[in-house]
Amino acid sequence: MLSFRVINMRMDLVYTKLLEHYGYQGWWPLVSMKGKKGFDNLGYHPNDYSYPKTRGQMFEIIIGAILTQNTAWKNVEKALINLYTKRVAVPEKIIEMDFTSLATLIRSAGYYNQKTVRLKTIAEWFNSTNFNIPTLSLRKKLLSLKGVGPETADSILLYAFKRPVFVVDAYTLRMFERLGFGKLTYDSAQGIVHKSFKTLSDDDKVKVFNEFHALIVAHAKEHCKKRPMCEQCPLYNLCKMNGKR
Ligand code: SF4
Repeated sequence: MLSFRVINMRMDLVYTKLLEHYGYQGWWPLVSMKGKKGFDNLGYHPNDYSYPKTRGQMFEIIIGAILTQNTAWKNVEKALINLYTKRVAVPEKIIEMDFTSLATLIRSAGYYNQKTVRLKTIAEWFNSTNFNIPTLSLRKKLLSLKGVGPETADSILLYAFKRPVFVVDAYTLRMFERLGFGKLTYDSAQGIVHKSFKTLSDDDKVKVFNEFHALIVAHAKEHCKKRPMCEQCPLYNLCKMNGKR
C-alpha cells in the first residue's frame, strides 16, 4: 500500500514537472487546421482540448495514428498534406481509391503498401462502426483490426474519440524504467498511470493523458534520449538513474 501511494505521488510530480518545463504540447496536430485561429503553423493547438470537433478531424487523427507507425511525424505530415491536396482524406475516397494511387500519396510515411491496406481497413471500419459504446468494447473492436496494436488503438481512443485511455510507447517504457519503475509491460505502465489519476473525472483524465503522453515524447527527444542528457533534466531529482550510466 505504501509503495502504491509513493507511485501515485511520483506520477503526479512527473506530470507536473514535465508540464512546467515543456509547456502545453497541443496534440493531436491537425494538418488540415494549420495556420488557422488557435493553431500554429504545424497544426498544434496548445491548451485547447476541444479538438477533434468534426467527423473529418476525427478521421484525420485516425489515419495519422496509422501512418505514424514506425516513422517520424514529419513524414506523416507530408503524406497527410498529399491526401488533403488531392481531396481524398475522407473514408469514402480512401475506400474507393485504387491501391497504387493511395500508396503513392502516402509513400513518405514508409511501409506504404502495408499502410495502404491498413488505411483502407480502418476507413471501412470507421464508416461501419457505432462508436457510441463503452471504451473497452471500442478498444476491443480496434484491436481486432489487422495492423492495430495497443499503442495505435489507444492513440485513436484518446485523441480521436476523447476516451480516458493513456497511450504507452517505447519512450514511456524507457523513461519509466529509468525513473525507477523497472522493466514494465505495456499494460503495467498504462495501469500505473490509470491508477495514479483515478480520482480525476473522465474529462480531466482525457486532458491529462493527452498532455502526459505528448510531454513524454517531448522529454524523450530533449533529455531522456537513448543516451540521456541528465544535466538540467526537469526530473533529475526524482529519477533513480539521473546521470548514473
Ligand atoms: S535524469 Fe536522465 S535518465 Fe532520468 S529522466 Fe532525466 S534524462 Fe532521463
